[in-house]
Amino acid sequence: MGNRVSCAFTASPGISRKIWDGMEVEVIRSSRKTISLEIIPGGGLRVRAPYRMTQRQIVAFVEEKRDWIEKHRKIAAERQARKEQAERLTPEELRALADQALKVLPSRAAFFALMVGVDYGRITIRNQRTRWGSCSSKGNLNFNCLLMLAPPEIQDYVVVHELCHRKEMNHSARFWAEVGKVLPDYREREKWLKNNGPILMARMGM
Ligand SMILES: [Zn+2]
Repeated sequence: MGNRVSCAFTASPGISRKIWDGMEVEVIRSSRKTISLEIIPGGGLRVRAPYRMTQRQIVAFVEEKRDWIEKHRKIAAERQARKEQAERLTPEELRALADQALKVLPSRAAFFALMVGVDYGRITIRNQRTRWGSCSSKGNLNFNCLLMLAPPEIQDYVVVHELCHRKEMNHSARFWAEVGKVLPDYREREKWLKNNGPILMARMGM
């Protein structure tokens, strides 16, 4: 961002969009109590603010967070570039990954199921662009073949995550407590997946 500019955020409820210093800024008003910033895909800024906060207060907050915004817009841009440059896997390579996943993941699931203390049904391997794994209400597990491109501790995390859904079919605190019992450092692994997962997914192509 360059110099301070006057900014015409609307004070009305709901969402308003502005271009501010060449950056798209989206302001979402709600009954929340605090203000938060988030970089959205494309490098824009999303501001979530309470109704009672004045336009001037929001602008002041954003100004104050200028360094944070710059830093995170840069990270987002780099991530986007890596995604665009990600080498697309050929159908043969995808099949090889799926074969590998079928060799690796069922034994991991069997091992961790004992630790979690649950049973499960069938295991299927899929090529998906949106999810790493899933668990059906019948207990069938589904894993993404791209997991084979991730480190083993990340593969284990996804396996444990899905198995814990056998106890809790949600992402409640109780669910995460179950994950934490088996993998106390699951937050680190989840973070890795959040940061690196989209780049791996991009290798699937469109
Ligand atoms: Zn889940």
